[in-house]
Amino acid sequence: MSDKEPTNPFEEIQRKIEEALREGKLHMVPMGNFGAQAGAEEGELTEGDEGETPDKPESPDEALERIRAFNLKPREIRDYLNRYVIRQDEAKKVLSVAVCDHYNHVRQCIEDPELREKDYHKQNIILLGPTGSGKTFLMRHIARLIGVPFVKADATKFSETGYVGSDVEDLVRDLNKMAHGNTDLAQYGIIYIDEIDKIAAAPGVQGRDVSGRGVQINLLKLMEEAEVNLFSPTDMMSQMQAMMDFQRGSKPRKRSINTRHILFIVSGAFDKMAESVRKRLDTSTIGFGDGNGAGKGNDEDIFRYLHNVETQDFIKYGFEPEFIGRLPVRVSCDSLSVDDLAQILTTSEGNLLEQYRSDFKGYNIDFQITPEAIREIAARAYKERTGARGLMTVFERVFRDYKFELPSTGIRSFEVTTNTVANPHDALLHLLKENQHLQRGVLRQDIDAFKERFKASTGIGIDFDDDACDALMELSVESDRSIRSLCETLFKDFEHGLKLVARNMEKEEFTLGREFVTEPDKALSRLVTESFGKARQAQPE
Ligand code: ADP
Repeated sequence: MSDKEPTNPFEEIQRKIEEALREGKLHMVPMGNFGAQAGAEEGELTEGDEGETPDKPESPDEALERIRAFNLKPREIRDYLNRYVIRQDEAKKVLSVAVCDHYNHVRQCIEDPELREKDYHKQNIILLGPTGSGKTFLMRHIARLIGVPFVKADATKFSETGYVGSDVEDLVRDLNKMAHGNTDLAQYGIIYIDEIDKIAAAPGVQGRDVSGRGVQINLLKLMEEAEVNLFSPTDMMSQMQAMMDFQRGSKPRKRSINTRHILFIVSGAFDKMAESVRKRLDTSTIGFGDGNGAGKGNDEDIFRYLHNVETQDFIKYGFEPEFIGRLPVRVSCDSLSVDDLAQILTTSEGNLLEQYRSDFKGYNIDFQITPEAIREIAARAYKERTGARGLMTVFERVFRDYKFELPSTGIRSFEVTTNTVANPHDALLHLLKENQHLQRGVLRQDIDAFKERFKASTGIGIDFDDDACDALMELSVESDRSIRSLCETLFKDFEHGLKLVARNMEKEEFTLGREFVTEPDKALSRLVTESFGKARQAQPE
């Protein structure tokens, strides 16, 4: 055994990083972009990015300047939300007011730091309502309008201690990453925690869910006011960042963020709680059914009872009274009807239909869609019972094969009808058949494109005679392969072979016949052999 000390892997990493930094080989890149979510969620629909100034990405300093000059009024926020979010009028109003109050207070504290010391009841929000009804969508748009960093996470991923799973404080660190490490901006961000209903458990046989309670208590501290250390002991990245800053000799960064001005939104579907509210109301009220949204809509829609939740309902459900007490703003979103889903596709800015249009436009393909087809999509999406997320499922199902097939055809436009939505596969086959006459033209273009690429990369010009073109097209159809991939396989040795021929025969343009497609290797070696013969003959005796 060697008497040398075994190398500590962390020292080794440190040494390598120091070396790389010295040699300028390593640069730190900020992660993420603010005003966006840490990671796109499955089932998330894309939002339009265009729009006026507040939508445009900006530097953290510009964003801070915008917060310092915050002067939006609730109506203005509501009008902005109307561009994107269908229905949810009550939520739009309540959120607009809460957000204006919050950021007005932030602005006042910046103007007058003494205000910071005074008591202020933060407007943390609890958003209730079914999945896919726009809860996250509303908050994401608000964050974007104001220009503050936004992070979203599911409450279920937090463990009480942070040793297993994630720690709630990680959210604040994520906010800092979203703010490109600008702690001044991160302290004004928005943290959105979904599935909060999953961490409350009503007292059961074994008492309350211990870890859920722990997460509530940890969150409670954050929502109130806490100093969160930016360099989590379990986060290797932040440790390395700190080390690099030290190595670079740069001014030590602020190491913590105070959560006093962070706006917290918690949300959940709360379907079980809706059920118990219904029971409460049914037993206490006869002829209940007016006011407050409850009593409207169809009977299946249990979520409408969420408009009537009271603090006691949350406590009965398993929330700590202190936790619920820190969430003074309560509002619920309604289930979206078939009409609402259809309206999303026709009026909401940046909706899925617009996205699909632009996806097809990327291949120069336009499509029309009939109003009946939109309605059919909405009706099918509704049956998914996932709110507006259902639209994505239906679009994917309907257009999946169209997206695969159409770009390789000559089809430049098509119409989506109810039949397309009901029988996408058959409708596609029909469309392809109707436009078969365009196919030869497209394959020809693909062959020309290969010839151009070959010329550009080898300097040798090749052409295929009509017979060879026919053979290529037949092979492409038979083998279900694109011309590009077919040619790349068939002619992979041609660069080398034709270069020899070009040198021997002193020419750089070749016309290839059918045999070069059906038996490329044989045809090429025959050509090479012939060229050597000709070269010999041409040599003086
Ligand atoms: P949740 O209520 O579960 O938070 P989201 O807000 O994440 O649902 O909705 C998922 C997607 O569905 C959004 O990104 C958005 O594209 C679309 N969407 C949901 N609700 C609406 C709505 N009311 N108006 C327009 N689009 C909506």
